[in-house]
Amino acid sequence: MKIAIAKEIDPSEPRVAASPDTVKKFKALGADVAIEPGAGIRSGLPDSDFVAAGAVVSADALKDADVVVKVKRPEASELAQYKRGALVIAIMDPYGNEAALKTIADAGVSAFAMELMPRITRAQVMDVLSSQANLAGYRAVIEAAESFGRAFPMMMTAAGTVPAAKVFVMGVGVAGLQAIATARRLGAVVTATDVRPATKEQVESLGAKFLAVEDEEFKNAQTAGGYAKEMSKEYQAKQAALTAEHIKKQDIIITTALIPGRPAPKLVTAEMVRSMKPGSVLVDLAVERGGNIEGVKAGKIVDLDGVKIVGFTNVAGRVATSASSLYARNLFSFIETLVDKTTKALAVNWDDELVKATALTRNGAVIHPNFQPKSA
Ligand code: NAD
Repeated sequence: MKIAIAKEIDPSEPRVAASPDTVKKFKALGADVAIEPGAGIRSGLPDSDFVAAGAVVSADALKDADVVVKVKRPEASELAQYKRGALVIAIMDPYGNEAALKTIADAGVSAFAMELMPRITRAQVMDVLSSQANLAGYRAVIEAAESFGRAFPMMMTAAGTVPAAKVFVMGVGVAGLQAIATARRLGAVVTATDVRPATKEQVESLGAKFLAVEDEEFKNAQTAGGYAKEMSKEYQAKQAALTAEHIKKQDIIITTALIPGRPAPKLVTAEMVRSMKPGSVLVDLAVERGGNIEGVKAGKIVDLDGVKIVGFTNVAGRVATSASSLYARNLFSFIETLVDKTTKALAVNWDDELVKATALTRNGAVIHPNFQPKSA
C-alpha cells in the first residue's frame, strides 16, 4: 500500500495532511509513504522531518499512490496525476460544489470527505470539524487581542487601573467554547449566547455568563443530532433586541454561529456594530458561510466608524502547525480503519457507516446520497 502526502496548491492553505508522527504510524501499518517536496513547510515541517520518520520525498509521489491524503478538495490538475481507483481523502467542501464532485468522479478516484464523518463516539478521533474549530476558536480570540488597542486582563498598576475587556461569544459549539476558555485565560469578562439550551451549563462551567431569551422555542431548539435549528423570525427578533442592548457595552465580539446546510444566521447588524465604542473588535468565524455580522468581508479587516470587523478565512490555518498535527491524526485514525491489519493491504468495507457517510465518489460515479444529480 502506497500513501502519498500531497502539497496543497491553494496559496491560502498552509496546512498539510500528515505529520512525522502519522508517517511513523502509517509505516507501522505496513505502508510506504511518499511526500511531495515542501508539502509541510508552511506548517513548520521540513521534508527532512518526514524523511526522518520514514517517508520518501518525491515530485512523483502522487502518481502510483493507492491513497492520497490532502487538506483541500483536489482540482482537475491534481486529479490528472492520481491513478484511477486511488482513494483521496480531504476536507472536500461538497455542498454547492456538485460540479467539482463530478470532475472527481470522472477521474475515477474514490473521494472521501472528512467533514462528513458522523459525530459518534467511535469517530471522535476522526472529527476534523472539532479539531479545526477548536483551534479556530482559540485563534479568533488571539486575532481580536491583536486588533484591540487595550489589554484583556484587568491591571491595577501604580500608573492607574486598566479595566478587563468585555468579550461576548455568539454561538457556543466547539469553536465558541474554546473562544470562551481562551478569553477567560486572558482575563476578560466573558458572556456568551447560543440557541441550544444545552450550552447554558457549558458556558457557566467555563466561568462565563449566559445570555439568551429562554422561552419555549429555545427549550426545543436542539436537533436529535445535537445541532442548532433555524429559529423563527419572532424568536430572532426577541433575541436580537436582547443582544443589541448587550452588544453596546462589549469590547470584543466573537461570532461562530452555524446551522448545518444553511447560510450562517445574521446576528449582528451594522447598526449594532456602530453602537459599540470605537476601538472595539468583532471577529466573524462564520464568514465562509456568509457571516454572522453585517458588513464582514472574507479575508479582510473592515473598519466601521472605528470598530473593526475581522473576517479572516481558514482561521485554523493561522495556527498551521497545530492544525496540521491534529488533522493528520484525524486522517490516520480513519485510514487505519480502511486497512486489513493482517495482509497490510487496503480493504475498504463499503458498508461501514463511516465509509458510507464520507464516501463521495467511486468507480466513476458520485455515490453519496446527498449529492446525487437532481432527477427531472
Ligand atoms: P456548529 O459549528 O454547527 O455551530 C456553532 C454554534 O452556533 C452551535 O452551538 C449552534 O447551536 C450555534 N448557533 C446556531 N444558530 C445560532 C443563533 N441564531 N444564535 C446563536 N447561536 C447559534 O456547531 P459545532 O461546533 O459543530 O457543534 C455542534 C454540536 O455538536 C455541539 O453540541 C457539540 O458539542 C456537538 N459535537 C459533538 C461531537 C461528538 O459527539 N463527537 C463532536 C463535536 C461536536
